[in-house]
Amino acid sequence: MSERIPVMKPWFGPEEAEAAAEAVASGWVAQGPRVAAFERAFAERLGVADAVAVSSCTTALHLALIAAGVGPGDEVVVPSLSFIATANAVRYVGARPVFADVDLASGNLTVETVDAVRTAATRAVILVDQGGVPADLDAMRGLCDPLGIVVVEDAACAAGSTLRGRPAGAGASFATYSFHPRKLLTTGEGGMVTVDRADVGARLRRLREHGMSVSAADRDAADRGGAAPVLETYDELGFNYRMTDVQAAIGLVQLGRLDAMVAKRRGFAERYRKALSGLPGARLVEDPAFGESNFQACWLLLDEDFPVARDELLGRMSAAGISGRRGIMAAHLEPAYADVAHVPLPNTERLTRDSLILPLFHQMTEEQHDRVVGALYAAAGLTVPEPAGVLS
Ligand SMILES: *Cc1c(COP(=O)(O)O)cnc(C)c1O
Repeated sequence: MSERIPVMKPWFGPEEAEAAAEAVASGWVAQGPRVAAFERAFAERLGVADAVAVSSCTTALHLALIAAGVGPGDEVVVPSLSFIATANAVRYVGARPVFADVDLASGNLTVETVDAVRTAATRAVILVDQGGVPADLDAMRGLCDPLGIVVVEDAACAAGSTLRGRPAGAGASFATYSFHPRKLLTTGEGGMVTVDRADVGARLRRLREHGMSVSAADRDAADRGGAAPVLETYDELGFNYRMTDVQAAIGLVQLGRLDAMVAKRRGFAERYRKALSGLPGARLVEDPAFGESNFQACWLLLDEDFPVARDELLGRMSAAGISGRRGIMAAHLEPAYADVAHVPLPNTERLTRDSLILPLFHQMTEEQHDRVVGALYAAAGLTVPEPAGVLS
């Protein structure tokens, strides 16, 4: 029996283990110099004013909404079709999530779907780059900027994706990233907020560390320099949303692998596209006209006439030793959001019901890739027309 094929797997070499061990040996394991270095490298890579490392993308979204001035009485437009953290962050600040539908091809909000649900109380939109597919931030800002609505880009899945040649998230006032192992670049748990203003970055740094005016790392540096002790003040309600230096050490190595990760994923996505072109009734997610995806989630949308239903297909794949996953969830269908009134969300419901995420990871072999393709054809009662060929 061949080995079970996972849906995703982090790509680590000995370098990550060495970097983590060095952080431990240094004695500085909490937020310190490696977090600062990771932030600088991330900001440089994206070409943004500042990047602030935090404990997850969920906490990144929470802080971004606070810094965007969103609070009780405000409405925030979000896609229901997203990991539930997107909508939860809105409730953390006491605001109301308002669900808008998504485009069927990209899984992302559009100007039209947001325009249809905005009201005088709309304070922000969380624009998700679903599964790594870049959303059209430029068009969304074209709608929102003149209305004073802040666009927060939830780029949790989109490190390495591009929008009109720029890194996804780089054009946003706030963009948030996840370093959970289901995403490309991972630090175990971890997140980042990128911003277009240095003063906003400074406030986010205070908010992630209890609202403290001076970070523990800066206080330590002053102590070592023999300067007079720096006394911190607490100027507003803050949080402990810090990343550790052990995580940041791993993140720095992972950031250096990002281009290779994206190239490999795009190659395998293209190989799926060719191999599945003879499979009727199924559509693989693709790049939008204005950008390139990192294929964080390489999803397949089944037409209504596909021979088997999505859950049955996942079951058959599982029996063949292949882990797929249901497509992106829809928050409005979960009990936690049963009390939220919403407009009809037909594309959201279709995508969450009829799509599945195919295995795709850096170390995947062509033989494993062929097995996934074979299982999909077998489920449709067909044989694979021709071998998919080598990965170019
Ligand atoms: C994964 C994900 C999150 C949450 O990320 P964490 O780092 O696990 O908190 C938020 N939004 C989207 C769109 C995600 O895919």
